[in-house]
Amino acid sequence: MNPKTHVLGNRPRPKGVVEKCTFCIQRTREGLYPACVEICPVGARKFGNLLDPESEIRQAMDTKRVFILKEELATHPSFFYFYAT
Ligand code: SF4
Repeated sequence: MNPKTHVLGNRPRPKGVVEKCTFCIQRTREGLYPACVEICPVGARKFGNLLDPESEIRQAMDTKRVFILKEELATHPSFFYFYAT
C-alpha cells in the first residue's frame, strides 16, 4: 500500500482489472495538480475549475476545438480532448 495514495486508488486489484482515474484526489484536495498533469513535459494535460472564467482549462475549452470520447454513450465524463490549434 502506498500511504500517499487515496483509498480509491490504493485497493489491490486482480490482474487485468482496468484502473479508473481518480483525478488524484489525494493531491487535488491539497491544491496540487494531478500527478500526470504535473509531470507531463509538454503540458499536454490541463486541469482546473471549468466554472472559473480565468482558469487555463476554461480558456482552452472556450478557444480550442474540443471533443468528448464516445459522447454518444451519454456517460457525461469530466474528461475532454482538445486539438492544439
Ligand atoms: S489524474 Fe492522472 S495520475 Fe492521477 S489518477 Fe488520473 S490519470 Fe492517474
